[in-house]
Amino acid sequence: MDFRLSPEEEAFRQEVRSWLEQHLPRDWEDQVPEGEAWDFTRQFARKLAEKGWVVPHWPREYGGLGLSLWQQLVFREEMAYHRAPLGYIAIGADWAGPTIIVYGTEEQKREHLPRIARAEVMWCQGFSEPNAGSDLANLQTRAVRDGDEYVVNGQKIWTSGAHRADWMILLARTDPDAPKHKGISYFLVDMKTPGITVQPLIDMMDNHGFNQVFFENVRVPARNLLGEENRGWYMATTTLNFERSSIGGAAASRRLLEDLVEYVREASLPEGRRADDPRVRYHLGEAAVELEIGRLLSYRVVSLQARGQVPSYESSVAKLYNTEMGLRLARRGLAILGLYGQLRPKSRWARLRGRFERQYLWMTGMVVGGGTSEIQRNLIAIRGLGLPRD
Ligand SMILES: Cc1cc2nc3c(=O)[nH]c(=O)nc-3n(C[C@H](O)[C@H](O)[C@H](O)COP(=O)(O)OP(=O)(O)OC[C@H]3O[C@@H](n4cnc5c(N)ncnc54)[C@H](O)[C@@H]3O)c2cc1C
Repeated sequence: MDFRLSPEEEAFRQEVRSWLEQHLPRDWEDQVPEGEAWDFTRQFARKLAEKGWVVPHWPREYGGLGLSLWQQLVFREEMAYHRAPLGYIAIGADWAGPTIIVYGTEEQKREHLPRIARAEVMWCQGFSEPNAGSDLANLQTRAVRDGDEYVVNGQKIWTSGAHRADWMILLARTDPDAPKHKGISYFLVDMKTPGITVQPLIDMMDNHGFNQVFFENVRVPARNLLGEENRGWYMATTTLNFERSSIGGAAASRRLLEDLVEYVREASLPEGRRADDPRVRYHLGEAAVELEIGRLLSYRVVSLQARGQVPSYESSVAKLYNTEMGLRLARRGLAILGLYGQLRPKSRWARLRGRFERQYLWMTGMVVGGGTSEIQRNLIAIRGLGLPRD
């Protein structure tokens, strides 16, 4: 097996790297896009759009650059390594847009894709409900056809970025009598439609990223139905597959591990430990091995796609491993940094600008979002190992 990339792909990596170094402030920190960080994220997105880099993975006819799968991988690795702020742009570029490319009408493609590519609109994903997360097909939000419109009533929860979004991809039940997977439809909803209320949910990092979204007699034009009525479940699976590719997770972890190694070399550690302490070396060594495994598991997904195959349980393996590896890395960092590592970035006593405290809380969410670890293990058991469902 040859893991080397071609000279063209390496040259592209260099181009992306230089551009990012030029356009990101030296002290840029990954953070939830609120306040000044939000303004910066929007400006950065527009600069990316000028390069065609909001959707470089899309075909040229839809405003992308038609990059090869390996170039996409390189691009994503560099973005993740440099902690480039994508905010909620990724929801349109990576989930909503590609689903519209596959299932949208020409009119829907013309209306939405160019605006996503130019970073003019933000999207959010209205899938989860209070009683429909892992068991997503249990969703109860209703959409009832009324002439040229559907009337939507119900509630969504954990909707990342709904307070910033212009549009939502929405799953709603259109046939309550059909088996639960077969009565769901997929809609594109303008967030300014009367009857939509967005309420903030503050997460354990004290950030406003999530929301609850309430629908009260919201009238959605029938032309905003994506694909066929009652076939929404199958399209949602496409969206979730885009969401689970997890490329970039290992690159983000590599950057964090490099920060930790540099710190350990130079700083004095709690309890008088030093860089040559076996406990410190053990954690760093294990982390280095694990992130290499995570990287190769993501490469496996891309390699399948590059050979024209559709990854199935392999995406679940990559998502499961990379998110849990990211959480383990956070624990290792906290173990090395001691109690100071648990302080928030704003504390004057925080170590490494509180990055490991943030990583620990963030990755705890990441092992849940996009399908929990237990659900990924179930998928691996059923699709990968051929075990029975129950
Ligand atoms: C950071 C983050 C961002 C998110 N953003 C969005 C978003 O933008 N849009 C959106 O629609 N949703 C979003 N979500 C919601 C996310 O998709 C759900 O949280 C997730 O699918 C789990 O559903 P739940 O929270 O209802 O937990 P539940 O499904 O209630 O699960 C509770 C526990 O039971 C376990 N469990 C459930 N079923 C099984 C089973 N069959 N076998 C074994 N164990 C099981 C789970 O693994 C979990 O540990 C986000 C979540 C997070 C954390």
